[in-house]
Amino acid sequence: MKKLVLLILISLISLYSQQKIFTLADTLRGSYGPFRSNNDLTYYHLKVRVDPEKKYISGSNIIKWKMLKDDNRIQIDLYDHLSIDSIIWKNKKLLYERIYNAVFIDFPSELKKGSLQEIEFYYSGITLEKGRFGGITFKQDSLGNHWINTACQNIGASVWWPNKDQQPDEVDSMMMSVEVPEDLVDVSNGRLISKTILGDGYARFVWKINYPINNYSVSLNIGKYVHFSESLDDVTMDYYVMSYNLERAKNQFAQAKPMLACFEKYFGDYPFPKDGYKLIEAPYTGMEHQSAVTYGNLFKNGYYNKDWTGVGISTKFDYIIIHESGHEWFGNSVTANDISDAWIQEGWCTYSEVVYVECMFGYVDALKYVNSYKPKVKNLEPIIGPKGVNVWPGNDQYFKGALFLHTLRNIVNDDDLWWKLIFDYAQTFKYKNIWTEDVIKYFNTKTGKDFTSIFDQYLRFKNIPTFEYKFTEKGTEVRWVTDVDFFLMPVKIGKLSKNKVINPTNEWQKILYSEIPKEEFIVSDILFYINAVEVK
Ligand SMILES: [Zn+2]
Repeated sequence: MKKLVLLILISLISLYSQQKIFTLADTLRGSYGPFRSNNDLTYYHLKVRVDPEKKYISGSNIIKWKMLKDDNRIQIDLYDHLSIDSIIWKNKKLLYERIYNAVFIDFPSELKKGSLQEIEFYYSGITLEKGRFGGITFKQDSLGNHWINTACQNIGASVWWPNKDQQPDEVDSMMMSVEVPEDLVDVSNGRLISKTILGDGYARFVWKINYPINNYSVSLNIGKYVHFSESLDDVTMDYYVMSYNLERAKNQFAQAKPMLACFEKYFGDYPFPKDGYKLIEAPYTGMEHQSAVTYGNLFKNGYYNKDWTGVGISTKFDYIIIHESGHEWFGNSVTANDISDAWIQEGWCTYSEVVYVECMFGYVDALKYVNSYKPKVKNLEPIIGPKGVNVWPGNDQYFKGALFLHTLRNIVNDDDLWWKLIFDYAQTFKYKNIWTEDVIKYFNTKTGKDFTSIFDQYLRFKNIPTFEYKFTEKGTEVRWVTDVDFFLMPVKIGKLSKNKVINPTNEWQKILYSEIPKEEFIVSDILFYINAVEVK
């Protein structure tokens, strides 16, 4: 009996651990709750001083917003290992309640809908490393100099500064005043406005960001950087690296300019020209910080000097330069409203690599490259994750996301139209935060077709469509096996140069051998990411 109870208990525990259990902390961070949705951010001025010896940060953030309804409370976020020194509104100290990493700020009177508001939020503390990239890290370069960097996607920017730490709402512009020991340099986002020697051993770098920006993109890169630059038409391109990597960087970063030219050709002008484009060396692989892309890919091609997709294409370029810069269009300019829809950033950005390969090396290489992502796809869970709980979906959002867009190109089956669709997509949603539904609506409206069942199958279910076919006496019978009902997707049969489009449904239908002879019935699964199964 005891054994049985134990067995039941063990199976219950394992069942429990298979389900994702979300906490109040997840919801406070991940949902767009009432004290976030009652206001619309307009501006931040983040002022920080960073003490590398003590791993200590202190300063304030001036937060400006417009009220969207009458209310007397808003939510700002700051991880609870950092102290709140004071929150000032109209020269008065405000009261607040801290719940996990959320800070609910109370106003002594109701703030009226439409009113413009401003607080200054003072904070300080010893920083902690958290998250995949550390959040904020205090490291040393190869010469033993201080090297401090932030990278806080998912863990959240509130791991190092107070802000409205969510995805849908972005400030319209931002200032950063960063004080660092005067022998170091800070490279942040946007345009450097001034450097002031303060006389107490510190120097202040003021950066102005002229565009909406994701919180997680806001970054510090503090070190003994050296600088070189070039430009592509009106876009300044500034590079910051460690002095001992200068020559290697000059070689490797030569890829940046033709890359930007490719992306501009296919997705429209660089989205942040007033801020310029920057590539900044960092002690981790890389991150898409807006106008301040960080780079740590060993100044070598591939991913960490490996042909990481194994077909000889990824070694033709520097994966981090291309991928992280692709995010300037997909992630920074076009942003997902909720990270459950992060494929809008990662799937599209991974597809931008494929477009880059086609632009630089041609269609055959692009085809090889996109198909080399297939072994990386797991198909164990849907691309779109649970909403409102700040859960980063699995890696299928990258590789399957890109393969899905490649498939969509072949569904559209008109390359001129396809290039126009994705160019206009980047323009239509420039500086916007969107949902998957907006993407589907865009493609349906622009093509006059209904791709909803296709988007749903690829994004909302773990399985890709299975194309079943069987050879009978007079013809080939075909059908789709899918999770969605009424799945409508064309597929191409035959060799690359010479193929026929057929339109299977979930019902068996016959294609006569007079239409497509049996020996020519080759399913084009390099153009469509599907399972093709012959039923005997
Ligand atoms: Zn990415």
